[in-house]
Amino acid sequence: MFNLERIRKDFPILSRKVNGKPLVYLDNAATSQTPQHVIDCIVDYYSNYNANIHRGVHTLSQEATDKYEAARQTIQKHFNVKKAHEIIFTSGTTHGINLVANGFSSFLKSGDEIVVSALEHHSNIVPWQMLCERTGAVLKVIPMNEEGELVMSEFDNLLSPNTQLVFVNHISNALGTINPIEEIIQKAHAVDAAVLVDGAQACPHIKPDVQDLDVDFYVASAHKMCGPTGVGILYGKEAWLNKLPPYQGGGEMIAEVTFEKTTYADLPHKFEAGTPNICGGIAFGAAIDYMNSIGFNNIASYEHELLEYATQQLLKINGLKIYGTSKHKTSVISFNLEGIHPYDVGTILDKMGIAVRTGHHCAQPIMDYYKIPGTVRASFAFYNTKTEVDSLVEGVKKAQMMLS
Ligand SMILES: *Cc1c(COP(=O)(O)O)cnc(C)c1O
Repeated sequence: MFNLERIRKDFPILSRKVNGKPLVYLDNAATSQTPQHVIDCIVDYYSNYNANIHRGVHTLSQEATDKYEAARQTIQKHFNVKKAHEIIFTSGTTHGINLVANGFSSFLKSGDEIVVSALEHHSNIVPWQMLCERTGAVLKVIPMNEEGELVMSEFDNLLSPNTQLVFVNHISNALGTINPIEEIIQKAHAVDAAVLVDGAQACPHIKPDVQDLDVDFYVASAHKMCGPTGVGILYGKEAWLNKLPPYQGGGEMIAEVTFEKTTYADLPHKFEAGTPNICGGIAFGAAIDYMNSIGFNNIASYEHELLEYATQQLLKINGLKIYGTSKHKTSVISFNLEGIHPYDVGTILDKMGIAVRTGHHCAQPIMDYYKIPGTVRASFAFYNTKTEVDSLVEGVKKAQMMLS
């Protein structure tokens, strides 16, 4: 059962005030809020069993290790991963992408091609540009159209026997477009290219099945799905993870160390050098449990309702333009008021307790496509209400009056 009133009570922050007004938090695409269940889990860790994992014989260390590995299994089940060691804990999406990009730099040679989409977050562009600089590989870009969708006929033209890797986000953080990753994965595999999907923006809204997708790598961050910052996952098919070299050297990731030669630990430890974010990993598991207790079908259908309502209400405002109008969209609305800078709108909304994002949303190529400096972005989560949408609409109208 989807009980909005009860859900909102799970999030203590939602009852605070900002500038004397009730907080209306519409910056969920940047980071989500944290339910009491996850906060309790963090408090429990530091209150009761804080210890380093995997090496202690003492009770606390064993308890922490068990909970950390149990969280890995929760995550494994959630993403329908075949083996727990195909889940690597990272510090977040950015770390996962860099780990894979770094690994591929030992396989790629000059003239190899890698394909990115025009709709990416900078964290899924820059590591690949660095990879191209190191290897001489060539970066190709799937273009976008006015609706903010990928032009898939162009994708077909970009693929060739030289294509080694394709990397796209599942859902665009700047526009909310859901990309046709099933088709992208199939077509890339047809030319023997591997595929990395950046799921940072998809995981708060849908439950991906990595085996069904047959994706080679999938990355996500806990903090966009009710978990803490500084922790995330890289899923990789076992064969790929065995093939990739380690990313960082240090403790935890070795089998044996001598000054002559070091051998690496088995998966997943080969990629988990140093003391990880233990509490964060455990709390990530708790966040996934919490979201599943609400139910991803409930989340998706309610957020769709919010998106439709907010879109209709916002479009009633004269001079308001929405960027990203695909039919396949999640609850992100990027917009501008004619002749008004997005930053000014955001500042006025904040005075009214309304939190939105303004700027290029780490996706400058999209802004360049539309020839705009940035947008105002309102992004909704399952704990937002229609009353909050109304507050946003009122706030935008007021900003327009004050600024024009
Ligand atoms: C947030 C986001 C990232 C970066 O995630 P971090 O947690 O900052 O590493 C990458 N890609 C997309 C699509 C995002 O929304």
